[in-house]
Amino acid sequence: MTATENGNGAAGGASNGSSNRAQTGGVHDLALASLAIHADDGFSIHRAVAPAMHVSTTYRYSRNPEDLIPMENIDPNAPADSHMYSRLSSPNISRLETLLTAILHGPSLTYSSGLSAFHAMIVHLNPRRVAIGEGYHGCHGVLKILTRLTGLEVLPLDCPASDLGPGDIIHVETPLNPTGEARDLEFYSRKAKEVGAYLTVDATFAPPPLQDPFLHGADIVMHSGTKYFGGHSDLLCGVLAVNPKRAAEEGWDSALLADRVFLGSVMGNFEGWLGLRSLRTLELRVERQSANATNLVAWLAAQVADESTTASKLVERVQHASLQKEASEKGSWLRKQMPRGFGPVFSIWLREEGDARALPSTLRLFHHATSLGGVESLIEWRAMTDATVDRRLLRVSVGVESWEDLRDDLNAGFEALLAKKKA
Ligand SMILES: *Cc1c(COP(=O)(O)O)cnc(C)c1O
Repeated sequence: MTATENGNGAAGGASNGSSNRAQTGGVHDLALASLAIHADDGFSIHRAVAPAMHVSTTYRYSRNPEDLIPMENIDPNAPADSHMYSRLSSPNISRLETLLTAILHGPSLTYSSGLSAFHAMIVHLNPRRVAIGEGYHGCHGVLKILTRLTGLEVLPLDCPASDLGPGDIIHVETPLNPTGEARDLEFYSRKAKEVGAYLTVDATFAPPPLQDPFLHGADIVMHSGTKYFGGHSDLLCGVLAVNPKRAAEEGWDSALLADRVFLGSVMGNFEGWLGLRSLRTLELRVERQSANATNLVAWLAAQVADESTTASKLVERVQHASLQKEASEKGSWLRKQMPRGFGPVFSIWLREEGDARALPSTLRLFHHATSLGGVESLIEWRAMTDATVDRRLLRVSVGVESWEDLRDDLNAGFEALLAKKKA
């Protein structure tokens, strides 16, 4: 069976005008849960249901000299799955990109990490200025390098629109690290359009089905695929999805692909295979994690508001999109932007730095570790990895465990900590 026979042969997604086109035709009418299982059905010629893991870096050319076409290596048996060298394209990665293209609603490319995706995005758009807020500190690190190399200017996210010009970037992270609060994308989209700037969105904290930044004016959507796309704390990955209009009219996806060949920041073969394994359950995991987080946040906020509880003696406040005032306003930008629920990350502000340092060690179910998005719940005294953050802050990434067990674990931790302080 070839890709074409299976009805999924129409080329789409990241195309380099060559052989490794992502396959998305024929399944676009399916829902996310179905796409995540079937958008790549036509990709492999093999009958195996689970994807093969291809580890090769290089691919044989045809033995017939007449068939040799410079810069192409199309396998007549698998035109959709033809490759030359794995820095250009490879089976696991192209298949993963096929799936991402379908579920992110725009041609998608993968990178070796979230930060290499961010780097590739800035290199491609080559702005003179980037307006960016707080949030994930690593993106600021990338901009710092580029500032040193090119004189790129970094401006505050809420700088006057008149400080920006055509080709500049407004980069919005939403929901925001580490608080999990959301920002209004349409507001920034209008601001960008006003001056001919681009809107790029770091949507790592709200993967599908929680948010689609293209519906709110994003030109490029970036994800650290290390987080929810991977979902099992075992792979590094970055993703750029290009607004379909920018792809069709300006060829941004092809340009990004051409750049990536020389930046060399591709995912490893094994990681690509793990990514496919992971995306099958994306919606299941994310919906559960989102619901768990919202339940925990509601419980904790109520505890903090009640002076008789143990939690209120230790915790000053909780921050999460579900506690923003627009979360309870019908028709608000937040309800429109996140109609399926809020992100699975939130922050807890302890009253004292020492308590923030000590609480993670009292917990049984939350690992004390950085990162987020995995099936395991994590808590981090954020000062461990972010020098810019308040030292009383704990960041929580909620996993897929029972939320009641997580609640009881937190409560027991508060009690143990308070008992220890009194002793
Ligand atoms: C983790 C993260 C990144 C960086 O991704 P890596 O895969 O670690 O390079 C960027 N933005 C956000 C919001 C993140 O959480």
